This record gives sequence, C-alpha cells and structure tokens, in this order.
Amino acid sequence: MTGKDRKELEIDDKKYIWHPFTQMRGYEKESQIIIEEGNGCLLRDMEGNSYIDGVSSLWTNVHGHRKKRLDDALKEQLDKIAHSTLLGLSNIPATRLAKKLIAIAPAGLTKVFYSDNGSTANEIALKMTFQYHQQCPSGNRGKKKFIRLSNAYHGDTIGSVSVGGIDLFHSMYRDLLFPSFKAEAPYCYRCALGKSYPACGLACLTHVEDIMKAHNHEIAALMIEPLVQGAGGILVQPPGYLKRVRELCTRYNIFMIADEVAVGFGKTGKMFACEHEDVVPDIMALAKGITGGYLPLAATLVAEEIYEGFLGEFEEFKTFFHGHTFTGNPLACAVAIANLKIFEEERTLDHLQGKIAHLAKKLRPFASLDHVGDVRQCGIMVGIELVYNRATKQPLPPEKRTGHRVIMEARKRGVIIRPLGDVIVLMPPLGISKKEIDQLCQVVYDSIRIVTEEK
Ligand SMILES: *Cc1c(COP(=O)(O)O)cnc(C)c1O
Repeated sequence: MTGKDRKELEIDDKKYIWHPFTQMRGYEKESQIIIEEGNGCLLRDMEGNSYIDGVSSLWTNVHGHRKKRLDDALKEQLDKIAHSTLLGLSNIPATRLAKKLIAIAPAGLTKVFYSDNGSTANEIALKMTFQYHQQCPSGNRGKKKFIRLSNAYHGDTIGSVSVGGIDLFHSMYRDLLFPSFKAEAPYCYRCALGKSYPACGLACLTHVEDIMKAHNHEIAALMIEPLVQGAGGILVQPPGYLKRVRELCTRYNIFMIADEVAVGFGKTGKMFACEHEDVVPDIMALAKGITGGYLPLAATLVAEEIYEGFLGEFEEFKTFFHGHTFTGNPLACAVAIANLKIFEEERTLDHLQGKIAHLAKKLRPFASLDHVGDVRQCGIMVGIELVYNRATKQPLPPEKRTGHRVIMEARKRGVIIRPLGDVIVLMPPLGISKKEIDQLCQVVYDSIRIVTEEK
C-alpha cells in the first residue's frame, strides 16, 4: 500500500465512519491510527508501527492475535459452511460449544441461548426472567422489575441501559428506559456511605437488602458484574460481596443474573469470576472473550428451572419469543471451541497466575505518582484512577481530558489503551508475556507522569 492509499483511507475513515462512543468533532481533527495487522499481543498500523494491545482490542482478545489454532479452526469451518440458522435447525459447532460451555460453567446452569454480543446476552436474560414470572405456575406475575447497581454497565441496547448505572448514559436515555430499583454498589475508593472496608462490614449491602425486603414481590432479577464493574471504572468488589448478593437473591426469591461479558474467560484469574466465591447465578451472560476475541458471539447460560418455565404445549404460547438472525453462527462457534481447547491444552490459567503477580509488582510504583489516586487490579484487569488532589481525592477537571491525553501519549510510545474518563485501563490479552507487561507498565507510567506533571 502506498502513502497515497494510506492518506485516502484516513480521509475516507473520517468521511464515512461514525465511530462508537466517540465525539466525532474531536476525532476528525486528530491524526488516527489505522490497524492493518496483529500478531500475538501486538497491533501493527499501516505505517508499520507496532503497539502493545493494552486493552486486548476492547477486552476481547485472549490468546493473542493470529493465534494459529484459532485461525485454523476458522479456516476449517469455512471449508464446511459459514452460516446456517438455529431457527428450527441445528449445526455442529453450536451444539459442541454448548456442551463444552455447560461442562465448564458453574454447576446448575444447563442450557445455552446464543446471540452475538454482550448487550443482547443481557437483554435475553432480562426478557427470560420477566417472562418466566408472567407464565410459570411457580412464578409471580407481579415480578416485573429489576434491581440495577450504581456504576453498572451491561451494554447499550435499551434493556441493558435500563439496568445500567452509569449516570451519563442512563440520564440521556431516561425517557426510553423501563423503571428499576437502583442500589448502591461498592466503589470503595469513593464509598457513597463514607465508610471503609473491611470495617464497613459491607454496609452497602444493607441498601440492596432494604430494596429486596420492601419490593421483592415486584422484582424479577438483579443483574451484576461479578467481582469487577468494568466500564464503571474497573471497580473491584471487596471479598465476600458477590457471595452475599447471591444469598440475598436466594432469600428474597430474586433471580441473579451474572454479567460475565467482561470478566469471563480468565480475566480475573479464573475461567469465570463467579468461581472465586463459589457462586452459581441463575443466568450467566458471556460474550467478549468467548471466541478468544475473534468474532462476535454471545451466550446466555440458564438454570434448568428457568428453562422449564418455558415448556408447554404450542398453543399455550410459553415459547421464548426471541432470536437473532446470526444466532449460533458456525464460524464463531468453531473458533469458540478452539478457544476453550487452548485454555485446556496450553494451561492458560495456570500460566496466567505468575503474570498476574508480575503485573501487581509492576503496578506498585504507580501509587506514588502525584496524580494517581487509586490503583485497582483484579486478575489481568487494571484501573488506575487519576485525580487532581490525592489527599482530597478531588477529580481532575473533565475538560482537561487527562485520561485521553495519557493514552495519546502512550500511543507515541508503542502502547494502545483506552481510558474510562480519567481511569486508565489496562487489560492485556492473557497471552501477554512478562516482558510485554514490563513494557506496557513502563509506557503507561511515563505517559501518566508526562501528562499530569506538565506545567
Ligand atoms: C462490553 C460489555 C457489555 C456489552 O457487550 P457488547 O458486546 O458491547 O454489546 C455488557 N456487559 C459488560 C460487563 C461489558 O463489559
């Protein structure tokens, strides 16, 4: 490709593409990177510059790019069939994958409902728990609402936004959203109750319980990101929190929906975050890492009890009236099977433990930077919260766009990351090497220093 072609592509990108979650006025003015290739944990742009994929291509990539076994699985399936429908038919990869997912999921989840992204996986969970109560003899027709947690993120479709808790997104679309009960979630660095862990005794849970106590007859389900609220700012829940939420849901007869879209497939150090606290949710939503970050695929795993609530004679109309066109796509499912095989055969999670400890060590120096307020890590997921004043935790002025400036600085040094406001996020592929972790941390450290200490 010539320099002229490259120029033309950049012009056409700005001319024709409306990028997600992007203020296009700013985007149009900045010079942009166009990725042409990837290999392992590196991305390569059209000029031939290499970058560490510091957020695993938006939290999706697991074993690295151009992983041979995933490439081969895709090519092999392509020689058979690219797509056929799951509406009234089945296909081989979707069936094999479903069996594998159930085998590794927390015991009690027995059925797989496919879709193609995290938002729909959650949307499906909401509709299922709602419909269950509307039609099942053991259900309760009054249970039509949901509990949502502050700072939660479950996707961008209307149902998923309705149970989200990031005010910026929630308030813009408020008139479109269905009502729900909002409960305070733990954000220990900025505790809404002004307490600190562990002395607090998880006091934020009393808020959840108060809502359940007063309204359980109206509540179908609670949706939660287990262990880490991702888009809310990599907010790590204190130990024991998830288990207590599970206990409360059981006590008040409320379904627990675990949104493992971000945390699933090893990001927290175990295959699924729920495993850390021996929690079995009633529904578990998976997406992002399910295909090793190769293709759009999602799965909603469901407990037998819920599935049975939809069984009946045709004319009872208890069918789950939902299904996306590309549900159970054979190409995506074939890659997902290969992804799980790699986990097993290359012992990905065993190798990961040392990397997590190494990452923790490399993060230690960040805490003494003047404008780093909090460093949060769970597994390979990291959030570095930048503040104006460490003593008072006063945030940086949003118009300074400090987080954005840090990631632009990192790009100059060969690292691609994306911030959440002024939280710098690191979430490399599980396949990252210790040497690459060193490089990633060094670049991010330097970039934070340069941006926050400039006069
Ligand atoms: C990314 C994400 C989603 C949404 O997934 P999409 O594939 O973008 O629709 C839902 N929940 C969590 C926790 C996520 O991180």
